[in-house]
Amino acid sequence: MEETEVLVVGQGLAGTWLSWWLEQEGISYRVIDNADPSGASRHAAGLINPVTGRRLVTTWMIDELMPFSWKAYQSMGSFLQSELITGTSVIDFFPTVQMLQAFQKRYAEDSPYLHSGNDTAGYDHWFRYDLGWGAISPCYLVQTEKLLTLWRNHIRVKGYLKEESFDTGGLVQHKADLEYHDIHARYIVFSDGKASAANTFFERLPFALNKGEGLLVEIKDIPPGTVFKKGMSLVPWKENIFWVGSSYQWEFSNDQVSETFRLFTENWLKSFLRVPYRITDHFAAVRPATLERRPFVGFHPKFPRVGILNGMGSKGCSLAPYFARELAQRIIGSGTIDPLADINRFERILMKKD
Ligand SMILES: Cc1cc2nc3c(=O)[nH]c(=O)nc-3n(C[C@H](O)[C@H](O)[C@H](O)COP(=O)(O)OP(=O)(O)OC[C@H]3O[C@@H](n4cnc5c(N)ncnc54)[C@H](O)[C@@H]3O)c2cc1C
Repeated sequence: MEETEVLVVGQGLAGTWLSWWLEQEGISYRVIDNADPSGASRHAAGLINPVTGRRLVTTWMIDELMPFSWKAYQSMGSFLQSELITGTSVIDFFPTVQMLQAFQKRYAEDSPYLHSGNDTAGYDHWFRYDLGWGAISPCYLVQTEKLLTLWRNHIRVKGYLKEESFDTGGLVQHKADLEYHDIHARYIVFSDGKASAANTFFERLPFALNKGEGLLVEIKDIPPGTVFKKGMSLVPWKENIFWVGSSYQWEFSNDQVSETFRLFTENWLKSFLRVPYRITDHFAAVRPATLERRPFVGFHPKFPRVGILNGMGSKGCSLAPYFARELAQRIIGSGTIDPLADINRFERILMKKD
């Protein structure tokens, strides 16, 4: 039998950050991950954007999340000897008069993250736009693919990673600990993304899964380092490669790529870009979003050794480091979980008999 404190299910952004903080606290852990190709983290653009939605409202907790995220990704980056986070701006070309007006309204209300654009920037060399632009800054860009790969290598080398599918049927709960195959753990935490919505412990939580599709596109001429947006976004991904997306579908019957998205996005690229491009990939993934747009963090009121770190929706890059730390602190017995994220708010639903 292998003895450990915490068994973590899933190594997306949530499981990566939870295992990172546990390691920082000297708490033993094991991670089980089945490398699902439609896991959300591996397809995330990696953008931490302080304003959100059509009305450009300031994102929940962003004034706290941004400095926290910057420090956390810097620390992990220096441990893994790689740059995992950089500063960036979003150049927001207004796709409609309504979006232009929404920007102007928020700008006049003094949003610290919005800046007016001026047309000496020369963007019309690369892009077509008629209604001007504004800038959103500061924003951060996280190298999600690099982070997941480097952390996976780290836990693999340590012998902490099991590359397999977890099956809840194999979990045995005792009073003082849990058993899963050859692992004895004091706690288990599900950070398995969309899978938690169908998990016997947590299926009653109000998940609202959301599918996103995107493309990877080679564009040689556009200067790197900045995000360009006109309804959809072009996000720097690798040298000469931009992440393009994404869709935001509440209703979907599968997690596969669709011809409809590809055609729509090709048309968008044709009308937006003045420079040549080449599509190199098309992907789809499912965001573990929640009805009230707040994460699910904490331990099950009926099964106190069974926890969850999930529900990051479209903001996993900023929410995962912060709430993983709150959960790790809770495991070591210091600190509390923000009541707006703590799953205790669903105590009645989770305690209800079948
Ligand atoms: C197209 C797209 C673009 C996005 N862009 C951004 C962005 O720019 N910025 C941002 O902040 N957020 C973005 N997001 C949201 C972000 O990706 C998510 O919030 C975040 O990745 C969720 O991380 P997670 O670890 O909870 O889930 P996931 O990344 O889905 O990880 C779950 C992990 O659990 C594993 N797993 C599942 N079931 C099992 C099992 N039974 N056994 C073993 N392992 C299992 C999977 O293999 C996977 O590795 C985007 C999402 C999408 C889809």
